[in-house]
Amino acid sequence: MDLASSAAPVPLEAPPCLLCSGVDFDVVLEGVRDLVWRKPGSFQLARCRACGLVMTRPRPTAEGLGFYYAGAYSAGGEGTDAVDMAGFYTGFFGRLLNRYRLVTIEKVQKLGASDHLLDVGCSQGFFLDTAHAAASCQVSGIDLDEGSIRLARARGGAPAAYTAGRLIDDALPAQSVSVVTFFECLEHDPDPVRTLAAARRVLKPGGLVVVEVPNWRSLWRAALGRWWMPLLCPQHLVHFSPDTLKATLRAAGFEPVHHQTMLFPIELVTSVALWLGTLIGPKAHKPSPGRRLVELIVGLHLHLLFWSVEVPVAFWTRVFGVAGHQTIIGRAPAT
Ligand SMILES: [Zn+2]
Repeated sequence: MDLASSAAPVPLEAPPCLLCSGVDFDVVLEGVRDLVWRKPGSFQLARCRACGLVMTRPRPTAEGLGFYYAGAYSAGGEGTDAVDMAGFYTGFFGRLLNRYRLVTIEKVQKLGASDHLLDVGCSQGFFLDTAHAAASCQVSGIDLDEGSIRLARARGGAPAAYTAGRLIDDALPAQSVSVVTFFECLEHDPDPVRTLAAARRVLKPGGLVVVEVPNWRSLWRAALGRWWMPLLCPQHLVHFSPDTLKATLRAAGFEPVHHQTMLFPIELVTSVALWLGTLIGPKAHKPSPGRRLVELIVGLHLHLLFWSVEVPVAFWTRVFGVAGHQTIIGRAPAT
């Protein structure tokens, strides 16, 4: 492995394939950078020759990832660079997205008061609010980010049990829940098969695992290359196609029972916005009048692009199974 083709200010590692333990890889994308938080480093993506899994490889070690996550998601609510999760998920599109997720789960199984749903990577628990309000099910959430869990507890949403930590640390009781969800989470995981096996442990026999991740085999990924926003390198360590996602569930002992690509029309506009951000610099806290005019013109064009291209194309990518995100549902063995 040519470690020189990736360059980062943190230690790197090049593990074997996370799905089949293969060690032969083909580089499929180079020069991939953190476009969202603009932290330094350049990464490559590589595909396993044996099973086709695409990984960020080499990738930061666990210690190195701490550098890329610092202040990225919550920073205890104090980080100026933190993504505004609350702003999105309490808004119209965020609430619609969580309803869409629940409707997708209920294509396989209706949820009710006797169900217990655990959301892994729950952030501030907004999906749990939706599931509890619509299906009356019990809800729990676990997230590695202590700041997000603090905010979830303080927010006063659904009566959920929150845990700060990792599912693989076995802090949750075995065979205690009926559904485990991973929304935009498993692609961040350094060992997805091991984490899904931990989900199997907490699931009752016949329970469901629900995984939503970006779709490597999507139209916008092919068109935009390293500028495709959902690559989110180096925080995303695995880049699943529908086939490798199904194989990952099977490797953890689940039988895939439903797969679909998602209507998720925020890829073209956000990718273009990130590209423009590298040209005109990050949003200023106190912009000059000239800068405000540039931002206004850019904003108007992005809105035009969204309604005239992104929304119509999103519909067709969903129809043809090449949308930028995907959801898979697997069932645990009945005994
Ligand atoms: Zn492999």
